[in-house]
Amino acid sequence: MPENSRQTTIIAAQVHETESWQAQLSNAITSAPDLLRELNIPQSYLEGALAGANEFAIRVPMAFVQRMEKGNIHDPLLRQVLPLAEETERPPKGFSLDPLAENTTNTHAGIIHKYNGRVLLITNGTCAVNCRYCFRRHFPYADNRLNTEEWDHALDYIRSRPDINEVILSGGDPLTNNDQRLFALISAIENIPHISRLRIHTRLPIVIPDRISQALVNRLANSSLTIVTVIHANHANEIDEHVANALQRLHSAGIHIFNQSVLLKGVNDNSGSLIALSERLFTCHVIPYYLHLLDPVVGAHHFDVNEETAQSLVTEILKHLPGFLVPKLVREIAGEASKTPVVHPISPN
Ligand code: SF4
Repeated sequence: MPENSRQTTIIAAQVHETESWQAQLSNAITSAPDLLRELNIPQSYLEGALAGANEFAIRVPMAFVQRMEKGNIHDPLLRQVLPLAEETERPPKGFSLDPLAENTTNTHAGIIHKYNGRVLLITNGTCAVNCRYCFRRHFPYADNRLNTEEWDHALDYIRSRPDINEVILSGGDPLTNNDQRLFALISAIENIPHISRLRIHTRLPIVIPDRISQALVNRLANSSLTIVTVIHANHANEIDEHVANALQRLHSAGIHIFNQSVLLKGVNDNSGSLIALSERLFTCHVIPYYLHLLDPVVGAHHFDVNEETAQSLVTEILKHLPGFLVPKLVREIAGEASKTPVVHPISPN
């Protein structure tokens, strides 16, 4: 193991030994000065960071910060969470507050129903990390924050739709709910006869891997539903040994694990990074699933990689990876019945 990887593992283990996942969530860095100080980033970046944070708050757990290289403003993990002045610039044409027009599919509080057969349940508005490129950075979470009774109304919608067979827990991040609340929700979904599959979209296994407790794993393993976990990592450096152990726990319980990434300028827009990510994911039993083009959300245009470059990158990684390690390059287009594949010249085999 390289020396710097070993150091990262040791530091992550220290977080693991001293704090519960809930404490790690509450103790996340939420201020620009703290983030810069922790990483020895020059104060010249403070003004831009404060301006960006005015648009969308900073949130980054220490377990994630500790995988970043101190003093490196270009660190691919830091770039995902550090606000920049660019976020306040006038957005280019095509960028909007609601790039996927979710206001038209969020017809019931807590429900987004845009695809046939599956429905998305907004379980809360909290994430463990605020990713600067998030397409929901302007989402009206306040209108979708449900108490237990309101959750039941959202579930009534699902109960009334026998054409739905899969529920996707989303957010925010569904795993920021405590076990009591989460397990009650899973039980309620299990009691809907036409639901056979539960998908959990979460970044917690990456940013606070301690969230993957044995109690959680046991509950998922004992569900009557087929459980699919879709995690979100964009760079191989996000997956240290502690994350790998969390993914191993999920895998050992028979839970399917897929990863979706976003192609981000300055983070993973080179073939080496994408190849390393796919290889690292697979050693952790995770299938690279989607590589998304950036959703054109106001405040994130500086991450945009154009379609032609994206296609070239996929063509390049196809030369180095078996087809099953090449994620599907897709774009989400509001109103379409599924993600739209961005076709590249050579298809995976
Ligand atoms: S974890 Fe997902 S939903 Fe939360 S800020 Fe990041 S991209 Fe957005």
